[in-house]
Amino acid sequence: MQATSLKVLSNEPLLSLKPAVDPSTLTHKQLVEGRFWGHIPAYSEISEEQFLDHAWQSKHTITKVSKLLEALQGLVSPAFIQDAELGFHRAPMSVRVSPYLLSLIDWNDPYNDPLRIQFVPVASRLLPDHPQLHLDSLHEQEDAPVPGLTHRYPDKALFLPVDTCPVYCRFCTRSYAVGIDTDEVEKVNFRANEERWKRAYQYIASRPELEDIVISGGDAYNLRAQQISEIGEALLAMPNIRRMRFATKGPAVMPQKILTDHAWVDALTAIVEKGRKLHKEVVLHTHFNHPREITAITQAALNKLMERGITVRNQTVLQRDVNDSPETMTLLVKRLGHVNVHPYYVYVHDLVKGVEDLRTSVDTALHIEKNVRGATAGFNTPMFVVDAPGGGGKRDAHSYEYYDRETGISVYTAPSVKPGQYFLYFDPLHQLSTATQRRWSSPTEQDSMITTAIAKAKERVR
Ligand SMILES: *Cc1c(COP(=O)(O)O)cnc(C)c1O
Ligand code: SF4
Repeated sequence: MQATSLKVLSNEPLLSLKPAVDPSTLTHKQLVEGRFWGHIPAYSEISEEQFLDHAWQSKHTITKVSKLLEALQGLVSPAFIQDAELGFHRAPMSVRVSPYLLSLIDWNDPYNDPLRIQFVPVASRLLPDHPQLHLDSLHEQEDAPVPGLTHRYPDKALFLPVDTCPVYCRFCTRSYAVGIDTDEVEKVNFRANEERWKRAYQYIASRPELEDIVISGGDAYNLRAQQISEIGEALLAMPNIRRMRFATKGPAVMPQKILTDHAWVDALTAIVEKGRKLHKEVVLHTHFNHPREITAITQAALNKLMERGITVRNQTVLQRDVNDSPETMTLLVKRLGHVNVHPYYVYVHDLVKGVEDLRTSVDTALHIEKNVRGATAGFNTPMFVVDAPGGGGKRDAHSYEYYDRETGISVYTAPSVKPGQYFLYFDPLHQLSTATQRRWSSPTEQDSMITTAIAKAKERVR
């Protein structure tokens, strides 16, 4: 025993230890910096000061398909422009792309770019919806006691004070409500409306079991500083409320706001600090999907939140060709940790209309999870969840009662949310065998596959 320890203390090389890694392989620390927007003709003359100004970003955010296609002239082929035009025509979401986001897309390879895939639809890649897909598949409106407030779980509720976002994502779960009406979908209206907010507050205050409020939308970035204060103050004043989270995709698509919209950041900070004095937790939840969405600008913004003691957590949507590989997801998770954001959830893509090309299977999620876990701190390792269609809430993807990889049906239960019910998730048809795809085109076969899956699940449930 003694001999061995002496040996370690000697000058011999420490062969048994791992060799140090080459720092250049630590890619999670390598963030895009400099004037990366310079290659977009429309922004080639824009100074760093202008580009970092959130007001400039907002003013130049593209909200018309024709304007977006105009900005792409010369950057992509005419065929791609046509493809995108047709894609938008069929899309359930409106367009909203900031100059920052547009600059991060690699327009030399637009078909494969993971950011383009999320925000700019192309008709040639669209796939038919799964036959079991329904708009508002999460039944958020059925669990809503007042408009814009979903009370599904025992002690927490989702408040949607606003129906606009700093960006519109193709894959949005709330495409039934978010953004302006498109050719395809007439939206439910959740515009900021003080009367409606008051009814939501009254409901929250009247429910002693409610402790935790998610303020989402839409997106908290689109609330004015004054509205952040008002909502924050109203909720902090309720003795039953112990926790709240402002949810925003902002840091991923326009980090400039955190750097230069002082009124907004100060309003948020004041609520966080007031909450801290009352021993209540107020945090920010955000939504990064790909490691390239985190730049040196993002880091500067998140550093500012860190300095103000604001906890930031992240939710990611698993999407095909965006982040559905162990390498990309691990890089994202490590990079989030590097900029002090806690990876919280990775969602198996909800059943959303018009984006079947973005979905992946539960099996893919499980495979990626296995590879990510262990790569970094456990508290920075996200949980992979299925938000059970039909209002079962988020379930650990592994916790299915039954999963048939051949039919793509997984069955979940949610004893603490909706006891006695069964919730089904359907893998996208494009990942199933041709024979099974054929079965899904017959309504009788569909019924038979679903009935079998539920029967098998019932055999297991305790
Ligand atoms: C996601 C969600 C919440 C918050 O759930 P957590 O698992 O605590 O993040 C609350 N209400 C609804 C309706 C939700 O969808
Ligand atoms: S930011 Fe969130 S709510 Fe808004 S469109 Fe994107 S996913 Fe939907």
